Amino acid sequence: MVLNGKKALITGAGRGIGKTITDKFLAQGAEIWGLDLREPDDLKERLAAAGGKLHWLCADLGNLGEVDKVMEAAIKESGGFDIFVNNAGITKDNLAFRMSQEEWQKVIDINLSAAFFAARTVARDMTRKKAGSIINMASVVGVHGNGGQANYSASKAGLIGVTKSLALEVASRGVRVNALAPGYIESDMTAAISDAARQFMLEKVPLKRAGKQEDVAEAALFFASDASSYITGQVLPVDGGMFT
Ligand code: NAD
Repeated sequence: MVLNGKKALITGAGRGIGKTITDKFLAQGAEIWGLDLREPDDLKERLAAAGGKLHWLCADLGNLGEVDKVMEAAIKESGGFDIFVNNAGITKDNLAFRMSQEEWQKVIDINLSAAFFAARTVARDMTRKKAGSIINMASVVGVHGNGGQANYSASKAGLIGVTKSLALEVASRGVRVNALAPGYIESDMTAAISDAARQFMLEKVPLKRAGKQEDVAEAALFFASDASSYITGQVLPVDGGMFT
């Protein structure tokens, strides 16, 4: 129970990687504030299974003018977070020549701008207690690029820049900021990919399998726990060796 007594905020906790991280952190003793666009269908069961240690917040982080207020309200309600998993994200893939301004802007708004506003608001509160760990969900695509994902790649590359810059600003006040860069992970987000594209991607993975959400959750647990207490400003690939 390495997160006993810790309070964590996890965005995009309704499904996918965020849900798996939520379950893992609960199993390790943390109290969780899960945030998503809406309540998941199985929320009642999840709240009961967590025995009072899961709280739920609904918000659209794409409303950029509201992000600070949403975070401040969550901080007030919880009494402050020890861990923040900045995980909510979207894709709107298209080839660069065909990409609309709306497709570009929406992905930048949610994956980069909202993630930055949320991270700095939580970080500011963490510095008061001189402790905390922020985990930004980037992507290997933010480091290496990907055809059809100029918007998504730019947003994740930007988030890596935010991670490194914020880490430098808050390190002296005991707060750590790191990023995870998952590769190809099985989730609803990647279910939309064509079989041919999936096969092409898997051929590039030395470990010869798609990543599981559990693989990302284990890496998030490492950054959340004291096991990584001397690590900040880093980007950890969780990609089966894809870009080694
Ligand atoms: P997902 O689509 O299954 O889950 C994303 C969650 O974020 C959803 O529950 C969604 O409702 C929530 N969300 C989206 N927009 C939101 C908003 N405006 N406000 C509040 N919540 C919002 O995706 P996933 O595969 O679990 O991905 C989680 C994170 O991991 C994302 O940041 C994604 O970019 C990143 N990632 C995923 C993969 C992958 O292969 N699945 C690879 C690299 C990085």
